[in-house]
Amino acid sequence: MTIPAAGPRRWPRIGVGYDSHRFAPGGPLVLGGLHLESDVHLFGHSDGDAVAHAVTDAVLGAAALGDIGALFADTDPANAGRDSIEMLARAVARVHAAGWTVHQADVIVLAETPRITPHREAMRRRLAQALAVAPEDVSVKGKTNEGMGWIGRGEGIACVATALIVPR
Ligand code: MG
Repeated sequence: MTIPAAGPRRWPRIGVGYDSHRFAPGGPLVLGGLHLESDVHLFGHSDGDAVAHAVTDAVLGAAALGDIGALFADTDPANAGRDSIEMLARAVARVHAAGWTVHQADVIVLAETPRITPHREAMRRRLAQALAVAPEDVSVKGKTNEGMGWIGRGEGIACVATALIVPR
């Protein structure tokens, strides 16, 4: 069997990212690059920003450049409390260096709280800056889980993102 060579970079490519973090006592809640007033935060080695993490994995996945855990190990003290929007920008720089540019991203935030709609536009702007696209090219949508399962019980947040990349 012959293994085909990597194809010419003529076509857009899609990536998907997923992340989840549990709530822990004490705010602020860092989400989509925003510091939201809250009595809980997302527990994590970095700032716990599940939105930024899912988008990071979507852009890295589109370029087949691995994942956020490989780039920013959660055992590395340098990544403790780290700004996840800055990590996303670094992942985008990797994607650029590999010959791609981000075209567009779409995000679903699955959470009973907080409500996403009041923060949607600010999140779009923060993510767009890191992705080097216009805010119009970033979509953020909030969904509850209709009270079902761990999301429904308010134990944490899950996030799904897609990103489209095109040749530079
Ligand atoms: Mg994460």
